[in-house]
Amino acid sequence: MDCVFGIDIGGTDVKIGKFYENELVYKTTIKTNREDDGRHILNDIFKKIDELLEGDNLIGIGIGVPGPVLNNSIVSSKNLGWDEVDVLNIVKEKYPNVEVVILNDANAAAVGEMAKGGAVDYHSFLFITLGTGIGGGIIVDDELIEGDTGSAGEIGHIRVGFNNERLCKCGLYDCVEQYSSATGIVKTANNLRIGRETKLNEIEVTSKNIFDLAKIGDEVALEAVNNFIEKLATALAAVTNTVNPEAIVVGGGVSKAGDFLIKRLEKRFNELCFFSVRGTKFALAKLGNDAGMYGTNYMVRKKLNEHKKV
Ligand SMILES: [Zn+2]
Repeated sequence: MDCVFGIDIGGTDVKIGKFYENELVYKTTIKTNREDDGRHILNDIFKKIDELLEGDNLIGIGIGVPGPVLNNSIVSSKNLGWDEVDVLNIVKEKYPNVEVVILNDANAAAVGEMAKGGAVDYHSFLFITLGTGIGGGIIVDDELIEGDTGSAGEIGHIRVGFNNERLCKCGLYDCVEQYSSATGIVKTANNLRIGRETKLNEIEVTSKNIFDLAKIGDEVALEAVNNFIEKLATALAAVTNTVNPEAIVVGGGVSKAGDFLIKRLEKRFNELCFFSVRGTKFALAKLGNDAGMYGTNYMVRKKLNEHKKV
């Protein structure tokens, strides 16, 4: 049977999914070996693919990577230790007769949500993942916008402060991911709780605990959440004013805060955006960690179909 592998490389592990058509029939996870500048990662993946083929006919491989993808091929990723690694050609050398697609991981997740998740009803939407950092993807008229250097949708690096308070790993100051991510809100809460009465001085300060305490009215936690929302709504308003999507689809670990987060975010967003984009819908992503696998599989199939038409 014809099969495609949809793969999502993260800083800690690699998710590998085997697909028949659009159905995920098997998934597994291997550790991301970041030793020696990440030079073993692709070979580890190849080994797993060969093992999981089990007599099936491999027709495509899609890979999502944590970094920008130049010309759908060359990847620089600080998370993996990769500096201009030509992933497309390495994969093609090993599997010369199969369709290969390389995508940024957040873009892959955006496409996955479009194919099967929280964005199936939309043709144009922004996708953001709120995790350790912020990832983003932009879909317009069912097409992923990748940009000239594969960097479209890097919503996490929009500047939302002007006092050079927090240095981002990208080298700039006050990127939105320094405030509106799991690590960002912990930093904010740690600044706010000093010398104040709050449960945050009694338990571990994690993103989940901050949101949980805010829900039951802890004032310091609520202040931290409001700061998180202020910065994120500012960045989303800027992108929405530019792209005018139907919806903003929110995923990532922090999105588990659910309606409590989304309702507040939507309200503040509507106060900050241009009047004609007010009312942009907000929705939660549905596929969680599987989104990238679905997205890369979708893009491989799309390419294969385009060849058939020619
Ligand atoms: Zn940044």
